[in-house]
Amino acid sequence: METCHINITRTLDSSHSKQNIPFSFTIPPDTTQLALCLSFSPWLVDGHRNMLTPTLFDPNGWRGAGPRQGARHEIVLSRASATPGYLSGDIPPGEWTMVVDTHMIMPGVPLPIEIEIVGTDETAREKTQAAEIRKTAPRGRGWYRGDLHGHTDHSDATWQVADLAAWARENKLDFCALSDHNTVAGLAAWEASGSDELLTICGSEVTTFYGHALALGVRNWIDWHVRPGPHNQNERTMNHIAQEVEAQGGLFIIAHPRSVGDPDCTGCDWQFESMMPGSARVVEIWNENWTGHMAGNEGSLALAFEWLNQGYRLALTSGTDTHGPEHNQSAKIFGFDVVYADELSEREILRAVRQGHLYSSAGPGLELNAATSQAHAMMGDVLDVAADVPIQVSTVWADCPRDAQLAWIVDGVARETRSVEGNGSGAWELRGGQAGWCLVTVRDAQGAMLAFTNPIFFDGRANG
Ligand SMILES: [Zn+2]
Ligand SMILES: [Zn+2]
Repeated sequence: METCHINITRTLDSSHSKQNIPFSFTIPPDTTQLALCLSFSPWLVDGHRNMLTPTLFDPNGWRGAGPRQGARHEIVLSRASATPGYLSGDIPPGEWTMVVDTHMIMPGVPLPIEIEIVGTDETAREKTQAAEIRKTAPRGRGWYRGDLHGHTDHSDATWQVADLAAWARENKLDFCALSDHNTVAGLAAWEASGSDELLTICGSEVTTFYGHALALGVRNWIDWHVRPGPHNQNERTMNHIAQEVEAQGGLFIIAHPRSVGDPDCTGCDWQFESMMPGSARVVEIWNENWTGHMAGNEGSLALAFEWLNQGYRLALTSGTDTHGPEHNQSAKIFGFDVVYADELSEREILRAVRQGHLYSSAGPGLELNAATSQAHAMMGDVLDVAADVPIQVSTVWADCPRDAQLAWIVDGVARETRSVEGNGSGAWELRGGQAGWCLVTVRDAQGAMLAFTNPIFFDGRANG
């Protein structure tokens, strides 16, 4: 039996692009199932996509989001089930709001939108099944390989939570993060799909109109409605988001900062001038296909070098940003992060990443160490060293293809490049006060990145 039937129409144009437009409506008591549909037309203008997505709030707060492409967004909610991206549960009566997030409205063409809401009191037949959280048995101090960035059908990927977990196991990953765009609806199922072999790290990708960031180790929805600035005093900023994530014990990572942006990849490039890198200390510089260009990885690497040279002690990561089986095929090469952590747990993996105790690789093993007669540092560490004191920098590589090029980079400049193959090791000498940081990269004979370490920092010059 229908309890309500509401139709809302409005015509938008490009002046409404990059806004969050609220539409409120009242749901009567005794509604047990709610069907909502946001539709608009045209989808394509001159080959570019209009992108409008819903975020839904019930009277108690955030209820879900559907950040995916398409001109028709259908949502069905009941106590026992929900469209991916949204939370199942009771349908409380009162004021609900659908916020229409206008990621992109192409200029020149008016855009009529329609929101249809149908409430019914059909009692759902399915039984609610609480997902059981699986604890991964900690394995102690060691190297752990995994992925910090991936999506499911809870946002815009084609596969489900179980498929992402199966993919992680096929790739023999020790850990894998779920970071759907602006939704945490998949996390209960994700957490339940962990095991002793696979640590499932929870999070989301804070996907704004002006750049993306990973919020890992955080299970609640993050209000991502921020502008790049200038800001008035009471306005929410990206810096507030970063602080919120860290205050909850999570890890904030600027994602693919030099990706292509509008209109090809709407909002994908990092435009937050006060977060260059501002309070951020971790940057995903290698994203998606390791040899591709869409993600702008060489640009992100150059940006990170700039920030390191300004004295920021950054940790550098990679992420597959996998969106499903189609995404993983077609001769793409992926890399993973290899993290030295005290144990295989969400807290310790994220802590080690924050400390820069990792390298990223599409194949080769790669380690970097530095030492004086007094002290030792691994990747991510600071080596305290007085002026002129000799520093031994050493690197170890493994499984390098023929004619791989290993570069020793000091303060952003390649100090030495050598051809390497298979397994080996090398050493260089520096003197205290001569350099701020160094790291090592391995590229193939054509120059494509195969692996990079995190930097080791020297002396007290860094901003911290
Ligand atoms: Zn992204
Ligand atoms: Zn992503």
